[in-house]
Amino acid sequence: MMVPPRLPVAPRPYQDELLSSWLVRVAAHYGSEALELMVYLAGQGGRDAGARQVDDVAPDMGLLRLWAKACRIDPERLRRRTLASRYPDRPRDWFLTETVPVCSACFDADVAAGRDAYLRGNWRLAEQVVCPAHRTMLLNRCPACRGRLRLSFRMLNGLLRPFCRKCDAVLTGGGGGTEDPLEAEFAAGVLELQRQIGGIVSGSPGPFVRLNHGIRTLWAPLDRDGAARPVLALWFDEPGWNCPYEARAAVGRPAPLQHLSVRWRALTLVILHGLFGAELVPGAVLPEAALVLFRRAAPMPWLAQSRDARNRKGKRTIEASAERVHRLSKRPVHRLNGNFLDERGDFGRIHP
Ligand SMILES: [Zn+2]
Ligand SMILES: [Zn+2]
Repeated sequence: MMVPPRLPVAPRPYQDELLSSWLVRVAAHYGSEALELMVYLAGQGGRDAGARQVDDVAPDMGLLRLWAKACRIDPERLRRRTLASRYPDRPRDWFLTETVPVCSACFDADVAAGRDAYLRGNWRLAEQVVCPAHRTMLLNRCPACRGRLRLSFRMLNGLLRPFCRKCDAVLTGGGGGTEDPLEAEFAAGVLELQRQIGGIVSGSPGPFVRLNHGIRTLWAPLDRDGAARPVLALWFDEPGWNCPYEARAAVGRPAPLQHLSVRWRALTLVILHGLFGAELVPGAVLPEAALVLFRRAAPMPWLAQSRDARNRKGKRTIEASAERVHRLSKRPVHRLNGNFLDERGDFGRIHP
């Protein structure tokens, strides 16, 4: 059997670093991309391994052992860096899978400390919208071009720096935090909520089931005349409120936070606080304001399910309807009423 190649010099992973971020750093030190280096490490017969990405939550240990061997690191040390190992009580859909937001002040701290910039593990938590170290909102848009943030890491003066893939602006040296006192106050308030939600997610099942139910209900489509607008449209109390395009993918989803930008996730936490007070989750008796909203949720299968976590039946049906509702929420919106075109006909079929 072929002996896997070794890399003469490889950076060590930082304590709070995402595994995928460490792989990018190792590869960048060889002027390569993580995937290219994976193909090289896996050798001629290992093209499959190269096609697989290392998963930050629960990676394939075979792949991880290849990297560990090449970099002379104990594979167990890498396993402890996985999100599944760092957050053992956290369900998988509470880790973000789409774009991961970043804190530019954290990147500035990397520059100040004279180390590579790297992605923090806690940026992938679904409730994380404020950096706990810098108390500023995370970014999911590039501050220079305002496009949806996709990073590429490149060497600059011997250290790795984050760049916007679209406009090539470097994401450091922007001064980090915000100057706007209102913004800073909002971030500080949300930071408290996010801490509390984090505790609920890894805490006892009762409050966690109620939390999921609260969030799913807020993002469920309205039952009538607003159908593909979410229930939280009523919270705004503005007739004709349109669900903005960037939030539409979350409507009717079983894990809405996965599909929302930082701002909309923050707002969801704020609304939970507004409706349920310090508890943040619906209790046995709903406050009047919450009752008005929750009555209007279209009967989505996973709403019934999140009320009763023991009911594991009908998973297939749930996934199938989730797909349908998602397709529906992608449809064009009528410019006058904010509703998706043709939704009535479509919704007829998913109603019991
Ligand atoms: Zn930060
Ligand atoms: Zn940009």
